[in-house]
Amino acid sequence: MDLYEHQARELFEEHGILVPRAEVTDSPRGAREIARRLGGRVVVKAQVKTGGRGKAGGVRPAADPAAAELTARRILGMDIKGHTVGKVMLAEPVDIDREFYVSYVLDRSAGRFLAIASAEGGMDIEEVAATRPEAVARIPVDPAEGVTPAKAARIAEAAGLPPQTVDVLVRLWQVLVREDALLVEVNPLVRTAQGRIVALDGKVTLDDNAGFRQTRWGTEAAEHDDPLEARAAALGLNYVRLDGEVGIIGNGAGLVMSTLDVVAGCGARPADFLDIGGGASAQVMADGLSVILSDPAVKSVLVNVFGGITACDAVADGIVRALDEVRLTKPLVVRLDGNNAARGRAVLDARAHPLVEQATTMDGAARRAAQLAATT
Ligand code: GDP
Ligand code: MN
Repeated sequence: MDLYEHQARELFEEHGILVPRAEVTDSPRGAREIARRLGGRVVVKAQVKTGGRGKAGGVRPAADPAAAELTARRILGMDIKGHTVGKVMLAEPVDIDREFYVSYVLDRSAGRFLAIASAEGGMDIEEVAATRPEAVARIPVDPAEGVTPAKAARIAEAAGLPPQTVDVLVRLWQVLVREDALLVEVNPLVRTAQGRIVALDGKVTLDDNAGFRQTRWGTEAAEHDDPLEARAAALGLNYVRLDGEVGIIGNGAGLVMSTLDVVAGCGARPADFLDIGGGASAQVMADGLSVILSDPAVKSVLVNVFGGITACDAVADGIVRALDEVRLTKPLVVRLDGNNAARGRAVLDARAHPLVEQATTMDGAARRAAQLAATT
C-alpha cells in the first residue's frame, strides 16, 4: 500500500526529519484558508499516488491566498497518469540550494535492503539513473544491522551528499523499520539556502503483510490505487492488474502464476492475475470476467482450470452461466483438465458460444490466447 505524500510527510515529521509546514484540503476555499495560515506564499501540490506530478503541472507555486485558491481549483480534479486529484497539499515554499535523491528499498532477490542515493536529485532522477548510473550510489543494507550513523556516513559519501544528510539517512531508516515500509523515498531531499536539510517530497510504501499492526491510515490509504483492483476487491476477488493484453483466470495461486509464465513464454503479456480459488462458482466467474473485460488493454482471455475437489463440469457450468450474465466482447480460450474434464468440455461444447474455444493443454491454450491477442 502506497501512502500519499502528505501522509509520508507526517511520518517524516514524527521521526524528526525536517519537512515544510503543510496542510491538506479538498476545496479551493480551503486552500485559500491554508495559504493564509501559512503566511501567503505556498506551493500547491496534487495528492496522487504517482510520481511526475511536477512535470504534469500538479505542483505549482502561488504568491498569495487568492492565487492559492485559483491554483487549487486548477489542480483539483486534474488527471495525472490516470489518477484523479481529490486533494491538494499546500506547503510553505522552500528556498532550494541543492536537490538530492535518497531512498531505501527492499531488494527481494538479495534478501536485503538497498540504499539508493544521488547528489543529483529532483525531477529527472530516472534520466540520471539511465544515462549516468555512476551518479547514483547503490549500497546494500543488511536489515539486521540497519543504518547506523557510520553506515549513513558511508552512503552519503558514496553518493556525494553533504555530511548534514547523515542524520536524515539514519532517521529515514527508522521510518522504514518502525512503519513496516518496503520503500521510503525522498526526492528531492534539499539543502535550503539557509543550509538546512529538508524532505520536500516523500513516497512510502507500506508492507501490507504488516497491515494488522499498521492501522492508523485506515480506509483512505487502503483505497486501491487501480480502479479495476478496487472493483475486484469490492467483489471479493483475488485480482492483481498487470500491464499486458491476455486476461488470465485460473483456480489456485500456483496454477495462475504458472499460467502467467506460460503466456509470457508465448511472447504475450498477461493483463492480470486472477485466482478464483477452489469454489469457482458462476458468480465468481461472472465477476472475474466482467472485471477483466472492462480492462481496455485486454485482447483475449484465458481460463485455465485444473479440476480437483471442484470438478471441471461444475466450473464449466459456472462459465456457461457467467456467459449469460456478462456480454463476452473478446475471445475466450478455456482449458479444462483434471477431475471430470471430459464432462466439462462437453458442457462448453454444448453452449457453442462463438467467442469461446477450448484447448486441451495449458501450453496450447496459452499459445492460442497469445495468438488471438496479437490478431484482434
Ligand atoms: P513530483 O514531481 O511528483 O516528484 O513532485 P515534487 O514534490 O518532487 O515536486 C516537483 C519539483 O517541484 C521538485 O523537484 C522541486 O524542484 C519543486 N518544488 C517543490 N516544492 C518546492 C518548493 O517549496 N520550493 C521550490 N523552489 N521548488 C519546489
Ligand atoms: Mn518528487
